Amino acid sequence: MAEFKLLINGQLVAGDATMDVINPATEDTVATCARASIAQLDQAVAAAKAAFPAWSKTTIDTRRAALIAMADAIQANVPELARLLTQEQGKPLEAAMGEIFGASAFFRYFASLDLPAKVVQDTAEAKVEIRRKPLGVIGAIVPWNFPIILMAFKVPAALLAGNTIVLKPAATTPLTTLRIAELVKDLLPPGVLNVIADANDLGAAITSHPDIRKISFTGSTETGKRVMAGAASALKRVTLELGGNDAAIVMGDVDPVATAPKIFNAAFQNSGQVCIAAKRVYVHESIYDAMCDELARLADAAVVGDGLEQGTQFGPLQNKAQFDKVLGYIEAGRRDGNIIAGGHRQGDKGYFIRPTIVRDITDGSALVDEEQFGPVLPIIKYADADDAVVRANASDYGLGGSVWATDSDKAWELAAGMESGTVWINKHADLQPHLPFGGAKFSGLGSELGQEGLNEFTQIQVLNMAR
Ligand code: NAD
Repeated sequence: MAEFKLLINGQLVAGDATMDVINPATEDTVATCARASIAQLDQAVAAAKAAFPAWSKTTIDTRRAALIAMADAIQANVPELARLLTQEQGKPLEAAMGEIFGASAFFRYFASLDLPAKVVQDTAEAKVEIRRKPLGVIGAIVPWNFPIILMAFKVPAALLAGNTIVLKPAATTPLTTLRIAELVKDLLPPGVLNVIADANDLGAAITSHPDIRKISFTGSTETGKRVMAGAASALKRVTLELGGNDAAIVMGDVDPVATAPKIFNAAFQNSGQVCIAAKRVYVHESIYDAMCDELARLADAAVVGDGLEQGTQFGPLQNKAQFDKVLGYIEAGRRDGNIIAGGHRQGDKGYFIRPTIVRDITDGSALVDEEQFGPVLPIIKYADADDAVVRANASDYGLGGSVWATDSDKAWELAAGMESGTVWINKHADLQPHLPFGGAKFSGLGSELGQEGLNEFTQIQVLNMAR
């Protein structure tokens, strides 16, 4: 039985306090785990700082080998880790397996990258080279919707670049991360990776810690602003992956029956708790009724339940606060539109909400303008596609977006006009490790994944020699 301890300086240690982690499907306690104090956070940062000089001087091949060993350890334990992830996060077991396996693949992907020095001048006058050096201690902060894959956006990239880490999962989903820490602890020198768990109370101390050089943060826009302010005192670098309100624009030339299932999945996977879920759908008036009917049919047929039960398509909301928030957005939908599927919780135990489709709603409703982050989807009618892009862009968010069309030239043109970090055409939420991912406007700063994401864990150094 795993003990869910903190990992500090290569040792598993009990927390100065403990906390219960709740299964959102049953509301029972999954396990009691360590909860770190400020003093333990300081110990973790001190360990990471002490480990940095030696780790940063290892060869990139040594660090690649460590990442591959970590990937192997994660992959070898997919069944156990996935079950634990389902119990603490709620997602169906198959999705949890995909997330854990995907994380191991992201470790392998980063192990394939390089950070070569670039010679920009080598002449009789001068030799000039651009190098990328590690930053130091990285504070990595992760939310509760994809605790493991989002960890794998950060940890392997930071380590490959030669940094050391203090990693903090979200308060409601720390268990799988702590178990992974236990599995990989002997694959790295002590202090290179430290993992602490908190009750949502150590984020500010991490952000403003004088010995942390960069914060890699994924979470809400509201917290992201606090991270940026907190990081200012020590002039830390920040990468912020924040909230989104992705628009999907569906043109009149698509087949609603063929397209609806794809949009449905883009909106409801992980019970809508996806930063890049389709969160508002703009549909051309010529196919509006047909699209609404299809989406409602899919919502009515959806199997919602405990992620450990076979056949479950959608699990519960991850925590009570989010469950209450989403019920509030359903009320906004009831007020401002017509609910044609769902519209209520399922059962009276667990944080289950039926997939909900709201039609006859438009911009100006909280359900359209804000990030619902749950299984309730507003469908908005439009007449002119260029106008739909203007409405999609009239948001502070700019994470992802999509255009659905048969006319690919028009789709490409509309997509290019959308103010978001990624725009998909005839698909949505397709994330791949080699493609940089990041948000525009209030959806974030900088990017993760790809060579660009790796570069963000480095400091440029120019060596410039006269001859
Ligand atoms: P959140 O901002 O409440 O919490 C995220 C993390 O920040 C948690 O680990 C939390 O403990 C920590 N935290 C809390 N207060 C902090 C502080 N003052 N300083 C530093 N850290 C602090 O977000 P959440 O509710 O867990 O996650 C949902 C949000 O995350 C949604 O808005 C979603 O769109 C966004 N998200 C974005 C991406 C992306 O890549 N852009 C991915 C997943 C989720």
